[in-house]
Amino acid sequence: MSVPVFIALGSNLGDRAAQIAAALERLSAVATIEKRSPVYETAPKYVTDQPAFLNMVVLARTGLAPLALLAATQSIEKALGRMPGQRFGPRAIDLDILFFGDDVIDLPSLAVPHPRIAERRFVLQPLNDIAAQLRHPETEASVAEMLAALPPDADVRLFAGSGQN
Ligand code: AMP
Repeated sequence: MSVPVFIALGSNLGDRAAQIAAALERLSAVATIEKRSPVYETAPKYVTDQPAFLNMVVLARTGLAPLALLAATQSIEKALGRMPGQRFGPRAIDLDILFFGDDVIDLPSLAVPHPRIAERRFVLQPLNDIAAQLRHPETEASVAEMLAALPPDADVRLFAGSGQN
């Protein structure tokens, strides 16, 4: 049985677009990618003294269990040269599991839905492009509602260099 999952990708070091493309290719070996958002260029949050990110979100279907999917996304991060570093700091590639069907998971290594979705325009904007009506299984807010609740912020822009825009 395959489950719909939403995965956020981000990169702010090196050839960001190439790293996102490489991560998508590797991800497609373990999940069927059904929808891809446009790519956005976004100002860094939390640690602001670092290069701008490229961010996007995909909808995929996978037969993997949640922890197996996490192991797969972490091995993609490693394979693409991600070094352990500062929390919220620069990274060649970052993959976050946003939603895993309607599952609510609260493990030390895996929190789903991802706990910071509602505060992140760089996640909600691309997610809204592919799944505006999707509802958070705990709060029941839709993606469009979560996005509308954020304070105005011009720091998330469509990336002109994205091949798919
Ligand atoms: P980050 O630096 O943002 O990539 O965080 C990596 C850590 O977050 C890893 O230790 C993961 O086990 C943990 N983690 C918890 N929940 C999630 C999630 N939903 N998706 C990806 N990583 C997660």
